[in-house]
Amino acid sequence: MKRHKQLRKAKADIEWDIVVIGGGASGLGVALESATRKYKTLLLEGVDFAKGTSSRSTKLVHGGVRYLAQGDISLVLEALRERGLMRQNAPHLVKNQSFIIPNYEWWGGPLYTIGLKVYDMMAGKLGLGPSVHLTKEETLEALPTLKEEGLTGGVIYHDGQFDDARLSINLAQTIIDYDGVAVNYTKVIGLLKDKEGMICGVKAKDVIDGDEFDIRAKAVVNATGVFTDEILQMDEPGTPKKVVPSQGIHLVLDHDFLKGDHAIMIPKTDDGRVLFAVPWRGKVVVGTTDTMIENASLEPRALEEEIEFILNTAKRYLTRPPKRSDVRSIFAGLRPLAAPEGEDKQTKEISRSHKVIMSLSGLITITGGKWTTYRKMGEDTLHNAVILAGLPERPCQTENLAIHGYTKNIDHNDHFYVYGSEAKEIKEMIENDPELGERLHERLEFTVAEVIWACKKEMAMTLDDVLARRVRALYLDARAAEEMAPKVAQIMANELNKDTDWINQQVEEFTEIAKGYYL
Ligand SMILES: Cc1cc2nc3c(=O)[nH]c(=O)nc-3n(C[C@H](O)[C@H](O)[C@H](O)COP(=O)(O)OP(=O)(O)OC[C@H]3O[C@@H](n4cnc5c(N)ncnc54)[C@H](O)[C@@H]3O)c2cc1C
Repeated sequence: MKRHKQLRKAKADIEWDIVVIGGGASGLGVALESATRKYKTLLLEGVDFAKGTSSRSTKLVHGGVRYLAQGDISLVLEALRERGLMRQNAPHLVKNQSFIIPNYEWWGGPLYTIGLKVYDMMAGKLGLGPSVHLTKEETLEALPTLKEEGLTGGVIYHDGQFDDARLSINLAQTIIDYDGVAVNYTKVIGLLKDKEGMICGVKAKDVIDGDEFDIRAKAVVNATGVFTDEILQMDEPGTPKKVVPSQGIHLVLDHDFLKGDHAIMIPKTDDGRVLFAVPWRGKVVVGTTDTMIENASLEPRALEEEIEFILNTAKRYLTRPPKRSDVRSIFAGLRPLAAPEGEDKQTKEISRSHKVIMSLSGLITITGGKWTTYRKMGEDTLHNAVILAGLPERPCQTENLAIHGYTKNIDHNDHFYVYGSEAKEIKEMIENDPELGERLHERLEFTVAEVIWACKKEMAMTLDDVLARRVRALYLDARAAEEMAPKVAQIMANELNKDTDWINQQVEEFTEIAKGYYL
């Protein structure tokens, strides 16, 4: 996956069947669907794969117990099926995660046990394990740091958990494996239209060297998440907003706050949302919130009241209340919720279903949805694009498709497990040169070899690409990520043939980003 090769292909004088704008979950899903059906496919990402919302999720592959409670049965059924397919197709990144709902009211046990039995039944053959009622003692044994006072018992159930940014890289690699083209740092700055006013391509800019070029396409898909409206404005100035950004934040704490392998799910917090505390890569991710935001940004910042809300809610359930100084990282993401028509709804009430919109110019836009349903979103969007572009119908290939890195041979205690079938190559690099096995920071397990791998094989172009999304240092321990930045920039400069000015600029830019991730 070399950027210069992908860029050269993107600039080729050909007409693409499908051009996808945006390299988050939605765009990658569409391009994967298209490339695997052998349509000429090009995906353009303006910054880096998953730079937007798709690296900032709670990292759950879930049917959505909450949506079941809201009666959104079709959404839950669809998501449960996709959850099973995602685990089947990328078992190296999607693992079975047990969740415990602690009960502090007498009615909680029977209610949640029945609800979760329905959830299990809806998953059918793709289920991850039965939900079971737990006594108070069993709940405390499974969650030793849970507050005992008032506890009556618990219910254990299963959902999936994954590494969102790593899956994005693997999806881009799969697109390329199937002869599609995917390139980062290539921003769409305009839409091309024919004499009838129909979209026939895009104007793109190589953000790294400033070069601008035209790309011809039979169909163009707008999959830009919370930036959807910017593309819609390029198409038709004055188009009403189609996306409502809703911010959610997460706090990352040391694993001691939870202990053990189970996650906690609080079904109803004071603001009516669910709250999760989930073990993830040696830490615990606690979140999330739901705050309507006016303007989309690539680096949204957590609001003070969101931080306080999560700390205060966590305090009510954990024996050791987390303090601000315990927070290792804090990350915010923006949900690209499909704007409801005509109703003034709270963001948490807006359906999480996806919507495919076709503009009069033929521009196809995909909004809403969630990571778990990225494949189905791709399938539904491509269905429209194929009709619009007059492409020959071909059957869907993604239901049973091994994603790049696929392996069933996984040991979750092995630091390199997220690389799946490629882990052995990284380990071989270290065997051949033990210095590459050196840790980048004493508090994190990431090694020099992973930085080299990211530059050579995963299209990492900036320090932020490496520290935020190829290795997840920024999301696990933001101060450690900041401290390791100069060293990582030096390793990258050697790989990418860059000079001292580049190193200094990268460190400066990354330090500015990292400031938003610690308190
Ligand atoms: C707090 C939070 C928690 C969540 N947790 C979960 C969860 O646990 N499980 C789950 O299933 N879902 C979850 N979701 C939902 C899920 O993360 C999102 O639905 C999904 O990531 C959205 O992907 P996207 O591709 O639509 O948007 P994005 O990931 O934002 O991608 C859009 C991309 O378009 C690019 N772009 C923008 N403009 C241009 C342009 N002009 N040219 C080229 N590229 C451009 C951007 O750089 C960006 O990379 C969560 C969301 C949030 C906010």
